[in-house]
Amino acid sequence: MVGAPLIGVLAIQGDFEAHGKVLRRLGAEVREVRTVADLEGLDGLVIPGGESTAITLGIEREGLVEPLRRAIGDGLPVLGSCAGLIMLDREHLGVMDILADRNAFGRQIRSFEADLRVSGVEGPPVRAVFIRAPWIAEHGEAVEVLAEVDGHAVAARQGDMIAVAFHNELTGDDRVHGLLLEAVGRRIEGYAPVSDFSDNTR
Ligand code: GLN
Repeated sequence: MVGAPLIGVLAIQGDFEAHGKVLRRLGAEVREVRTVADLEGLDGLVIPGGESTAITLGIEREGLVEPLRRAIGDGLPVLGSCAGLIMLDREHLGVMDILADRNAFGRQIRSFEADLRVSGVEGPPVRAVFIRAPWIAEHGEAVEVLAEVDGHAVAARQGDMIAVAFHNELTGDDRVHGLLLEAVGRRIEGYAPVSDFSDNTR
């Protein structure tokens, strides 16, 4: 019998509590990550949306930059949402071969919702909430674009690193978290995600 996976949620700044709720609902154990010691023994990690400058300053203050790079570089599955996508890019943690353009949707359309086809997510489109969101301006060959808005990449995957420009924790549609838990499950012998990650919004 294999226990629930332990998923860390970076809890420096931003929407970490909501991610924790979703992950618990999906049967994961959740640990808020604030220190280097909190990274020990994780099966997966979420970097939430919020404000990437604040998160950057926080991880620098806590000495988390190199430990996060190492953990993710060593294969810890990770999901970055909005500011979390920015944190994964070339100019921040530098673990994904993507370049985020911050606040890319401009001043007029700072926030909006959209129904998005996300590659790898079965069923109806994913309800996505964009809040002063970035898009992915450039990416390398190892990166697969999973979704676009107006021709701009807003979701991508590179191995077990998944980045979405939207907030996937706010709608009750758990299927993007499901992608992370599937990646986690492939690394734990005998573990299969308990939920079918159904879309709870409808
Ligand atoms: N605009 C924010 C930033 O640049 C990201 C917004 C979000 O995470 N909702 O960090």
